[in-house]
Amino acid sequence: MKKLAIAYLSAIVLFMLGFFAYNQLSHTGVKGKSIALEFANNQSVTYKQAIEAYQYLDSKYRNAKLFTYGKTDSGKPLHLFVISKSKDFNPQSLKAKGYRVVLVNNGIHPGEPCGIDASILLAQEILERKDSLWNYLDSTVICFIPVYNIGGALNRSPFNRANQNGPQEQGFRANARFLDLNRDFAPMFSLNAFSFAHIFHEWKPDLLIDTHATNGADYQYVMTIISTHHQTLEEPWSKLYMNSMEPFLYREMQTRGYEMTPYVDPMQDTPESGIAEYVSSPRYTVGYAGAFNTLAFFTETHMFKPFADRVLSTKEFIAAAMKYVHHNGSQIALAKSQSVEITKRKEVFTLSWTLDSTKVNELNFKGFEASYLPSKVTNGKRLFYDRTKPFTKPIPFYRYFTPNITVKKPNYYIVPQAWREVIERLRANNVYMEQVKHDTLMLCGVYYITDYKTYPRPYNGAYLNYNVKVMATSDTIAVMQGDYIVRTNQEANEYIVQMLEPHAPDSFFAWNFFNSILQRKEYFSPYIFEEFAEEWLKKNPELKKEFEHKLATDKTFAASTYAQLSFVYQNSPYSEKSFMRYPVFRSRE
Ligand SMILES: [Zn+2]
Repeated sequence: MKKLAIAYLSAIVLFMLGFFAYNQLSHTGVKGKSIALEFANNQSVTYKQAIEAYQYLDSKYRNAKLFTYGKTDSGKPLHLFVISKSKDFNPQSLKAKGYRVVLVNNGIHPGEPCGIDASILLAQEILERKDSLWNYLDSTVICFIPVYNIGGALNRSPFNRANQNGPQEQGFRANARFLDLNRDFAPMFSLNAFSFAHIFHEWKPDLLIDTHATNGADYQYVMTIISTHHQTLEEPWSKLYMNSMEPFLYREMQTRGYEMTPYVDPMQDTPESGIAEYVSSPRYTVGYAGAFNTLAFFTETHMFKPFADRVLSTKEFIAAAMKYVHHNGSQIALAKSQSVEITKRKEVFTLSWTLDSTKVNELNFKGFEASYLPSKVTNGKRLFYDRTKPFTKPIPFYRYFTPNITVKKPNYYIVPQAWREVIERLRANNVYMEQVKHDTLMLCGVYYITDYKTYPRPYNGAYLNYNVKVMATSDTIAVMQGDYIVRTNQEANEYIVQMLEPHAPDSFFAWNFFNSILQRKEYFSPYIFEEFAEEWLKKNPELKKEFEHKLATDKTFAASTYAQLSFVYQNSPYSEKSFMRYPVFRSRE
């Protein structure tokens, strides 16, 4: 009896512990320890120290919590640190109460760790209620991903970044599977991308800041930025950004002692030739976020500047963005909700853009004089920026693009269930899908791939298909029970179109998800096909005419009996309809 009671009691205790654990599932609840940041001494925290620092803040402050969100390729979970003044940590209820969300992603390239240290410092300062930072969170929640590329952060060395001015040791660009995660938001080959998507769609940030450091040309600025391209934003967002947020951020950073400039991507060798913006496709953080109406930034500190300055300028940029969101919360809410509605309703989508070099702005630029000197190593000349000769002068600035390929969206796409990797990614990105209830024949819009190129060497884990050309036609398709219907009346419309139109640069087709359609599966044996070919040409005089014309005019064709039989085969009912036919179908309207 006693034994039974003990067993009973332990069962209750175990159940309660289990229940407690369930409720705390994603909240780490580990104490951690206070970490002294050493960026002033040219050192960046390790991955372990970064997590411990947030665990410490989590245990010390009730307004902060450290969560885990699924695994990364390293085997370690992805963390998210949230500071919520109201102590509400439920993203749905926060959104319902009108809170804005700013998400900071760090260490996507752990060799560029400025943001990892900057975010810990900023989180500490916010929670210690330093300056106005605490006030900025009246109606905003700030979230930090401490380190996104954990595998890369663990792969630490003093030699990962040639010529970078500190820190003494830094992580490696690629992750545990040697993927560059800032190319992986479209294909999602990494577990990191799935865990990121979980965070991103649960918190639906208004602003996303992805922290980096850059090399390239030399100039006076510590901080440069790239934002979601204004032309890819819906009008309410792009107006708010161009007329209000962008000027504010540049002014504010000047006040904070880190005057910044647009990311320096010179038209020719040096910035004096002019710099151009670019449109990021969904493989990049900024393009991916933009596809869901989140305005995103890459902060790109200059890697020749001291590490401490890079950390502090990154911290100041995040603080400046928080300040803007605090003062303009209702305009942001309005711009975002109006943009979402426009995305749901809009008909035409731009798949790719071309720089319009006829539209030139002017940018007052603080650079260094550049010259070419004889190299002491090679037998050629070297580019040399003279830091003793700073200049400020106007340079050309190109920030306008024209649509290159556009498509009209169908009312829905049909994605056969066979393409489960695609379904899995659509689902991870909050795409609403219905399943077909009965096997049926449907007249659908169909694309044939008429041409494409493939890179001869892999690009971030795929032999990327590009320059894809399609021919649109229609056909009767056998749609199976359980196949997926993806309607284009949803928040994720831009993402859906960019990923499912095969000629979009970052489509699933481009990333090799549909490569099996690019190979013929059925063939014929020439000696036995002869009889059929003869009959078939007899029955189809038009085809026969075409055949004879080709024989008379095309030398290569005339020289190959196999090519001649193939011609008949390809124009016969035996020819595979599915060869080169893109296997995602479009509704006819
Ligand atoms: Zn980077």
